[in-house]
Amino acid sequence: MPDLPEAVRRAGVTGCGGAGFPTHAKYDTRAECLIINAAECEPLLGTDRFLLREKAAEICAAAEAVRTHLGASEAVIALKETYSAEISALSAALAPYPALKTHLLRSFYPAGDEQVLVYEVTGRAVPPGALPGAAGCVVSNAATLYAVWHALEGRPFTQKYITVNGAVKAPCILKVPIGTSLADCLAAAGGSTLRDCAVVSGGPMMGKVMSMAEAENAAVTKATSGFLVLPLQSRAVQYAVLNERQTINRARAACIQCSFCTGLCPRYLLGHPLEPHRVMRKISMGTDWRESLSGDSVLQSAALCCECGICELYACPMQLQPRKINALIKQEMRGQNIKPPRFEPEGCRDYREERKVPTGRAAVRAGAGKYYGEPPARFAELRPGEVHISLNSHIGAPAVPVVSVGDRVELGQLIAQPPPDTLGVRYHASIAGTVNEAGDKITIQR
Ligand code: SF4
Ligand code: SF4
Repeated sequence: MPDLPEAVRRAGVTGCGGAGFPTHAKYDTRAECLIINAAECEPLLGTDRFLLREKAAEICAAAEAVRTHLGASEAVIALKETYSAEISALSAALAPYPALKTHLLRSFYPAGDEQVLVYEVTGRAVPPGALPGAAGCVVSNAATLYAVWHALEGRPFTQKYITVNGAVKAPCILKVPIGTSLADCLAAAGGSTLRDCAVVSGGPMMGKVMSMAEAENAAVTKATSGFLVLPLQSRAVQYAVLNERQTINRARAACIQCSFCTGLCPRYLLGHPLEPHRVMRKISMGTDWRESLSGDSVLQSAALCCECGICELYACPMQLQPRKINALIKQEMRGQNIKPPRFEPEGCRDYREERKVPTGRAAVRAGAGKYYGEPPARFAELRPGEVHISLNSHIGAPAVPVVSVGDRVELGQLIAQPPPDTLGVRYHASIAGTVNEAGDKITIQR
């Protein structure tokens, strides 16, 4: 078998769970337990479920290879107890691997949050501000494992499976070359059923609501999990358009300190000292929070927020945005080069189980309830005439082109790589054709 991290590095695999962390760097460790995140907890997305049904053998083979590499005694595929077809597809595929097993989760949001998942599977709490490795675990998404399987076969990461759902005529799962335009993906789903709508990249709870200009230029990246079309009046869309001043002014005017946001926060429930209502109180004071940030541990606790959106899309009765405020504080901490302090764990709250948010209710509150249900059954494979490959869709340094305008490239050919001695990933041509642009993205025409 090829050296696993090297094969994964050469193939340019990044995590498919959202953040786009370079997978070879994640696997550069030892662990007691590999957890395969197949919870797909964002309502309306169905890509991981599709892969579990259609590619269970490949995912299990990759899981066994990664488990062996990590020296882990077991690998656990965590999925929801309601995923009947996926559970039965896995039961056959798991048979050759005695160290692989499944863990069934209740259908709650955010079951797929890394720290929530580690606790659900192992009963161990990851310390506040730490990574799953601190609890002896490595967590990898099911779609990432499928890309790892390709990498071990010597094939680069050039294709994505994505969900197109929401207010579209024909919701579907698509297999597309990386760089396929949003317009091509929406056309494959029959286009929008609404005149006034917005496009979200990702799920309704944590996805990014795109402006018109962003949507016009958007394309599938290594990190894209899906595109949703949602009504303009849905809460997920309405909150996204508020700017920083409006968000803070609304908090100052309307926060009633009910602490519902804290009471349902999944990180607080795990025992992390993150209390969004206290952050809201601090931000609502008349003083300049930016000036007091360096000495204020309550404001700095925003660093523990995973931005799941429960507080603002589900919990808050005043329609305020603790998540957005936490994100602002985190951004400011990076700008001021403030490192979060060492937070002490407070122990998992004993009422955690009864505070879990059902996924369907989260979808309703986000304004996507009308489209929630079984994931799309329709599947299509696209062959676009042109792709636009972003070289900055991962965590780390942007990749640098190794091709020039006018070059002919073959499918799978290396087109960009990270600068020397940096954390980053390689990019490969997702279609054969001619390079039309080679800057911070590479455009290839078939
Ligand atoms: S739930 Fe809303 S109103 Fe209540 S404390 Fe949190 S932000 Fe304030
Ligand atoms: S977004 Fe809100 S609910 Fe989610 S972790 Fe952050 S503070 Fe907690």
